[in-house]
Amino acid sequence: MRQARLFTKTVKELPKDETSYNAQVLIRAGFIDKTAAGVYAYLPLGLKVLNKICHIIREEMNQVGGQEILLPALTPKEAWVTTKRWDNFDALFKLTGLENKEYALGATHEEIVTPLAKKFIFSYRELPLAVYQIQTKFRNEKRAKAGLIRGREFSMKDLYSFHASQEDLDVYYEKVKAAYFKIYERLGLSAETYLTYSSGGAFSKYSHEFQTLTAAGEDHIFICEKCRVAVNREIINDLKACPECGNKKLREEKAVEVGNIFKLGTRFSEPFKLKYRAENGEEKPVIMASYGIGPSRVLGTIVELFHDEKGIIWPESVAPFKVHLLSINENEAAEKIYQTLIGEGIEVLYDDREVSAGEKFADADLIGCPIRLIVSAKTLAAASVELKRRAAKTGELIKIENLVVTLK
Ligand code: ATP
Ligand code: MG
Repeated sequence: MRQARLFTKTVKELPKDETSYNAQVLIRAGFIDKTAAGVYAYLPLGLKVLNKICHIIREEMNQVGGQEILLPALTPKEAWVTTKRWDNFDALFKLTGLENKEYALGATHEEIVTPLAKKFIFSYRELPLAVYQIQTKFRNEKRAKAGLIRGREFSMKDLYSFHASQEDLDVYYEKVKAAYFKIYERLGLSAETYLTYSSGGAFSKYSHEFQTLTAAGEDHIFICEKCRVAVNREIINDLKACPECGNKKLREEKAVEVGNIFKLGTRFSEPFKLKYRAENGEEKPVIMASYGIGPSRVLGTIVELFHDEKGIIWPESVAPFKVHLLSINENEAAEKIYQTLIGEGIEVLYDDREVSAGEKFADADLIGCPIRLIVSAKTLAAASVELKRRAAKTGELIKIENLVVTLK
């Protein structure tokens, strides 16, 4: 991508009501734009990152047998009345259409996926099954002050699994839990992310959250260093100890819930009468679980974790571009290098703008691609480019002939 042609420019003026670091820096660097409180537009750089996060999640969901679907965002009131959540779901956006027909904007999709599954699940032979989607969700959140961490419109991956027995669900639940660990590892978040025990509802003692430590977090968790797990504030009052080893010396930290897995049991299959015929001919309710991750919240969390005073420092797996190539008055040589790199399939943002070197350096640091390459008269005199990692203090000269091998 040629930066002179990029839709966005770095922005100096921030919206006055934007107080969160992640949204501020993402707006300044041109990744997102703020449309309203809790509502953001994804611009070319931001959408690239969001898509990379979604791609990682998608691969791991496919790996555990999840089949991708896409459910509607406009959902009929009746489904929410059936589960008694029309009046009880916090922050449901409600609207009225023609002939006074009422809808909710999808805040989660148990109400839609359960009656859908009823059209295809009849016997034990069809089970287990798992479907997921990555979709925009809507919640009329009271506090929308944390940027992408708490949107009123946000992206969610929601997986739903359907089982013939609790035992079968328990096995699958552990498989998805392992897939979640893999996802956070690939996103570069594993060092800061803790499996966190949370309240489980009527069908299991606990549910599990995945909580990433950051001062920007709105949750408080209590960490057991020995087991590398945590307990959510909701249940610490009853528990006062690590649920795995009984350790009472827990460390309190602020964190963001980046994912959540939950055994639903028959909470939704009962009201929708989602049943299957067992091998012995008996009719039984289907046992369900749901598994959420917020890709847009993950994006905001990554920015909160990986930055310095100059800007963002993207983990390579989700960076908008691997390489930011800066031409310092050497467009001819830089153009050749640009062509070589993209020919090799390397993702490059090429700063070919007519602006000062200082502005190019500042913007490269703000945007935060993992590798910065400088082409200048000085580097060319040594038949080289300067390569500096965004996280490093200093760079090194690399011979142009060795550049592709070095980058790969
Ligand atoms: P929170 O307690 O932070 O409001 P939640 O318990 O309501 O989260 P879930 O309903 O389990 O969250 O949603 C699944 C996932 O969707 C969460 O783990 C989180 O990653 C993401 N998510 C939930 N609400 C938001 C939001 N307002 N903005 C961005 N992401 C969200
Ligand atoms: Mg919530």
